[in-house]
Amino acid sequence: MSTVRTPLIGLTQQELQALLGDRKDAKLRSKQLMGHIYKRFETSFAQMADLPQEFRDYLEIHHTISPLQVATHRKSTDKVEKLLVHNGDHQVYECVLLPYQDRVSCCLSSQVGCPMGCTFCATGLGGFDRNLTAGEIIGQYLLLQSHSPRRISHVVFMGMGEPLLNLKNLLKAIKLLHEEVGLSYRHLTVSTVGLVPQILELAKEQLPIHLALSLHSPFDEVRDRLMPVNHKWPVQVVVDAMREYQEATGRKVTFEYLLIKDVNDTPEQAKALIPLLKGMPNVINLIPWNWVDTGNGFARPERHRVRAFRKILEDAGMNVTERVERGHDIAAACGQLAGQHKGKFAQRSGQTAIPISGGNQSEANPVLPT
Ligand code: SAH
Ligand code: SF4
Repeated sequence: MSTVRTPLIGLTQQELQALLGDRKDAKLRSKQLMGHIYKRFETSFAQMADLPQEFRDYLEIHHTISPLQVATHRKSTDKVEKLLVHNGDHQVYECVLLPYQDRVSCCLSSQVGCPMGCTFCATGLGGFDRNLTAGEIIGQYLLLQSHSPRRISHVVFMGMGEPLLNLKNLLKAIKLLHEEVGLSYRHLTVSTVGLVPQILELAKEQLPIHLALSLHSPFDEVRDRLMPVNHKWPVQVVVDAMREYQEATGRKVTFEYLLIKDVNDTPEQAKALIPLLKGMPNVINLIPWNWVDTGNGFARPERHRVRAFRKILEDAGMNVTERVERGHDIAAACGQLAGQHKGKFAQRSGQTAIPISGGNQSEANPVLPT
């Protein structure tokens, strides 16, 4: 008779201890297991040499470490690695390893798909399946770490999904990353489309994690068109919530600004950002849009348009960075690989596969949380 083996990742030590039930040594064994999984990144019970054989046999029968299986593994010429994973079904999600000279970062998904429906985003266009569990979120980190000879010190939640729609599981994964793996909260970045109640709820947690808002326009009429969420929480309301987050946590927030030609890259919008963000010692990160087949005629702006936009902000004393494109040759843009896998975009656009372009998540936020 086969039993369903429950995964151990994503549980706190207390939960693990409870799972081991009436074993007299449950406390000790749960502590040891946490060390094997989160500090030594072991991926099989056989590697856990200090556990008694009888206990390892028990674990083999009743549990797995992680439910994640790799569907596709791509390595770009610039050393970015992208994994498309699943748990044995058709629901795929993506995570990306981003090695730099001075650090290794990674980009994790928080949901399978995304319900927010941003009109420029491959994930948004592909629809929504479900939230990821805390185990599936931290499982992506552990999987990427097993592919990286260097320690992954930074995490950005800029993969598939809206992290703040899955706040409970996100926070559990974040706390495990900090308390068990040992990552600094300051090296963790959450990017949000702008859900005001959740931004304020996150502020109450008082964790010194880094929060980035996907702003993409200072004008409600433009942001409405790009991000349906703006109808509910318009520009000024969401920027005020970011201010509150900054005041409550003492962490400087940052703003992501996607640039789409003739839509939100105009000088008027650059100028309007200056009073909007006044008084926030923040950084604005410009991201030239990576082409996906949206069917609405969006285009990536030419270099000179990006430079002109940047200059207006810099002349006003703003701190501007620009996302460097990496992972170009491996369909690293958010949701693209999953879209190819499911054929969703192929169906929608009548093509056999979506064109490969660079990735929004192929680059961790270059604004390094300090
Ligand atoms: N849902 C969250 C986090 C995931 S998206 C959010 O929206 O912030 C991470 C970032 O990628 C966001 O800033 C998003 O606007 C951006 N993005 C989405 N599609 C993109 C594309 N085709 N090219 C460049 N950036 C993109
Ligand atoms: Fe979701 Fe972010 Fe894509 Fe918008 S940009 S659809 S919030 S993943």
